[in-house]
Amino acid sequence: MPFPPYSYRDRNLYVEDVDLESIARSAGTPVYVYSATAIRERFRLYNDAFGDVPHEVFYAVKANSNLSVLRLLAAEGAGFDIVSGGELYRVLRAGGDPAKVVFSGVGKTRDEVEYALTSGIHSFNCESEAELALIDSIAARLGVTARIAMRVNPHVDAQTHPYISTGLRDHKFGIDIAAVEDVYARAAGFTHLVAEGVSCHIGSQLLDTAPLKDALDAVLALTGRLRAKGVPIRHLDLGGGLGVPYKPDQREPDIAAHIRAVCARCAGHDLKLMMEPGRSIVGPAGALLTRVLYRKPAESKEFVVVDAAMNDLIRPALYQAFHEIVPLRAHMPGTFTADVVGPVCETGDFFARDREMANVLPGDFLALCTAGAYGFVLASNYNSRPRPAEVLVEGASWKFIRTRETLEDLVRGE
Ligand SMILES: *Cc1c(COP(=O)(O)O)cnc(C)c1O
Repeated sequence: MPFPPYSYRDRNLYVEDVDLESIARSAGTPVYVYSATAIRERFRLYNDAFGDVPHEVFYAVKANSNLSVLRLLAAEGAGFDIVSGGELYRVLRAGGDPAKVVFSGVGKTRDEVEYALTSGIHSFNCESEAELALIDSIAARLGVTARIAMRVNPHVDAQTHPYISTGLRDHKFGIDIAAVEDVYARAAGFTHLVAEGVSCHIGSQLLDTAPLKDALDAVLALTGRLRAKGVPIRHLDLGGGLGVPYKPDQREPDIAAHIRAVCARCAGHDLKLMMEPGRSIVGPAGALLTRVLYRKPAESKEFVVVDAAMNDLIRPALYQAFHEIVPLRAHMPGTFTADVVGPVCETGDFFARDREMANVLPGDFLALCTAGAYGFVLASNYNSRPRPAEVLVEGASWKFIRTRETLEDLVRGE
């Protein structure tokens, strides 16, 4: 079954007031579809839950960086969490406020730091002492002061897929919580830096909030120790958002309740709270529509070959991710068990294995659910496949927010 905001009306799959098959037919497939209303509502879920606690919600651009999505969130007053100069460029092009941008990431380059400083971003989440030295030297040359937070690695197991878990000792991210106080002490020696924050991001797709609470306790204690040593910590950046349901038996964690618990835990600490949700704002709002090309029976199983592939949505191949797959017209009787695969020449090019699914025929359309985050942004041209179009739905209307790539696009720059 699809997840909200996707649902059947008389066995036709809709998002908002649009019949998705009408998009598939007129936009062609594969095509990404996003609900503008759902994106807005999900951002407000975060932003409103803080109530009158001083806070800022920075949408994590890497989850879905389409300019129209960024524009929509900028209009809601969102800040933006970026991990590259390219993402900063997108945010500025979309009308985002540079004063509400935080720059995360373990490998910021000289050019990116200079771009961020001249754009006047809010702060850097720093991951090494070498990075501090670089930012300080560039800030000195430009005659500005850079606000920084150290990204702390609290050794908390996020209980998520190893590729999106980031808070354990052996991960490349952040600075060991046991070593970071010395780093803040040395940061005080840099004349063009002001260390006013602590940041912590332990991983993505967390359905259980217990690890986040453990991490919060660890960074709150750290904040106290830092302040006692005279480091003027003013903000706490709690990293990404919560996980979203991909499987039928997964329940969405209560975002508002989690944030209220965080606010209660931080009450009296005089901290501005920051958060950088990506997946949970755009993930459930999106779906990838694809058409069935063939049904191919084999010795021991059957394959459903569709026109989308791992180059369009790599999450199953990269993270063994599960996406619910449902027909746009749920009229066919019965189910069968199949592997859903794309045309790319890789055995890893599958969307589902041994999945019981609707008894679809060639020409039928399917939706891969919960595909709004880490979907299009990870698309490639592998096998010289043009990247898909993206469509934004609002109410009863929809529009292209990115046209399908052409064959000419494929060779541009070669
Ligand atoms: C990826 C990332 C996020 C967003 O995580 P979601 O799980 O998509 O909310 C936030 N902050 C940092 C530093 C990240 O790397």
